[in-house]
Amino acid sequence: MSKKLVLASNNAKKAAEMQTLLAPLGLEIVPQAQLGVGEAEEPHFTFVENALVKARHAAAATGLPAIADDSGLCVAALGGAPGVHSARFAGEPKSDERNNQYLLERLAAVPESARGAWYYCCLVLVRHADDPCPLIADGQWHGLVLTAPRGEGGFGYDPLFWLPELQQSAAELDAAHKNTLSHRGTAMRQLLGLLRDRPL
Ligand code: IMP
Repeated sequence: MSKKLVLASNNAKKAAEMQTLLAPLGLEIVPQAQLGVGEAEEPHFTFVENALVKARHAAAATGLPAIADDSGLCVAALGGAPGVHSARFAGEPKSDERNNQYLLERLAAVPESARGAWYYCCLVLVRHADDPCPLIADGQWHGLVLTAPRGEGGFGYDPLFWLPELQQSAAELDAAHKNTLSHRGTAMRQLLGLLRDRPL
């Protein structure tokens, strides 16, 4: 039987991307919700700290190795916001649609030349809750914030994330293409490299 790795995310679309990217490991990837694990608090100012908290929370609750992603959109004209607050930029309850609307409002007066933004993803894998040597990987993806949404794919801010070199938004890419370019794909390939030297 293959080893189990708990996926510490309750965001179904993000978890689906991670499942695909983790496939080369040949592990059994178990979403934390299937094991009755709820969302961890994410009180920190950095992605890496929040990812570590989430991974530890899932490992502590299940006694299994766990992987977490903490990610978000950083907008240059907003000093890097929403950053770690991306999921709840427009407040509770969290909603991609309201977040996108709020982002458009905040950038209403910002010209295209100043609408640069990047996605960031930090992945943390712990073998157990007290693992002193977690595996940590990260990735970035640069683009521009559109003035109106385009495309139906992806999730979160993807309909507003414009890729000038492709002349498409992230929501217009198919899932496989997004994974080859995205912050999450880059971080996952880095993590898979770390795991080759330090297997589970
Ligand atoms: P987390 O689940 O607390 O890490 O929040 C991640 C949030 O960042 C999501 O809810 C989205 O708003 C945003 N985000 C992260 N990655 C992506 C992506 O690949 N596409 C679109 N939005 C993303």
